[in-house]
Amino acid sequence: MRGPREARRGPLLNDPGLIFDGSVLVRNGLVEEVGPTRRVENLKTARGAIEINAAGRVVMPGFVDGHTHLAFPPPGLARTDTASALNAVKSATASTLAIQMRNYLRAMARHGTTTVEAKAACGGGQSSGLKLLRALALVKHDPVDVVSTFLLCLPPPGGEPDAAEAAVVWACEELLPLVARRRLARFADIEWSPGERRQRLIRRYIETTARLGMGCRVHADGDGPGEATALGCELRVAGIDHLEKIAVGELGGVASGPVVTLLPGLAFHRGSRPAPARALLDAGAAVALASNFNRSDSPILNMQTVVSLACREMGLTPAEALVAATVNGAYALGCVSTAGSIEHGKPADLIVFNVSDYRELGHHSGMNLVHLTMKRGEFIYQEGAVAPLAAEHVRLPW
Ligand SMILES: [Zn+2]
Repeated sequence: MRGPREARRGPLLNDPGLIFDGSVLVRNGLVEEVGPTRRVENLKTARGAIEINAAGRVVMPGFVDGHTHLAFPPPGLARTDTASALNAVKSATASTLAIQMRNYLRAMARHGTTTVEAKAACGGGQSSGLKLLRALALVKHDPVDVVSTFLLCLPPPGGEPDAAEAAVVWACEELLPLVARRRLARFADIEWSPGERRQRLIRRYIETTARLGMGCRVHADGDGPGEATALGCELRVAGIDHLEKIAVGELGGVASGPVVTLLPGLAFHRGSRPAPARALLDAGAAVALASNFNRSDSPILNMQTVVSLACREMGLTPAEALVAATVNGAYALGCVSTAGSIEHGKPADLIVFNVSDYRELGHHSGMNLVHLTMKRGEFIYQEGAVAPLAAEHVRLPW
């Protein structure tokens, strides 16, 4: 995934920078060298290195899953059952919530994800939102890197006329300054809804996040994604996500716009139409892929499945899907100096896959092909042996 210092667009998305018969030299958790095996093994610095033989396998950067709803709703509750979900947050402590999140983060690590974005959004006032962000802070590096985002969902149109305005004023004047001061979230996100009045409010929210030094993302999963994209491009937000309903005629600004994160698992579970990925790619969008993991309507956390769905349902090539799920994901999260590619000086976040050709990842469906996951030079997961195991040797990992 080496390449130019910018999010990949057009033909660049189709180039994973493959090295045949390659090696990676890791030292103190960082990538020291990457290149053809013959060159790497003859380096002076490679003397005495422990060799992990990955012959016949594919080694690639850990997945960067740039859009998940890990923090809400809590496990076992549907998103539509907002009242119970909110009660579950209110009655739990941040550390109890963190235990539940950690289990999912470990499952992600088993499937090759090494960096993940997690949104906290639950309504119900300041204390619940802050509690979710505190819970996310407890799992920040355990075992994968977690990038926290606060997501504001505006009340649905048709209710109290001033409810949306009140929510934005509260977020801009009280919550976001507090979140920024305590460094509880790297990004602020806002759920898009169309209409002139709402656009004014969303503009205010985005401008406030910029003043506070937080990146802003736009959650454009409903109607009016074209307006969302235009405003996002104008205000140079950090990312625009979803875009299931965008029309081909609305792609004007994407060629120079922020990273667009697409979520094929959501359409798969809803049985609905996915975003027009091919049209976005052809229009020059910097496309990233993410799981949109949430317990209710998008329960996929395996980025291998996201990659294969992107190939099957959206027409991406395996190379495009893998670039979108790694280096472009890192651009979407502003963490490309530490994630998304195997390059000198970066943390060694690697996956060793049980496939001999990366294109197989676009073809398999639902299975876990990860042999090893490495985070910052440490193996955090190795696939288990299939062999008889005496009951007294069974140990649960928690
Ligand atoms: Zn989402």
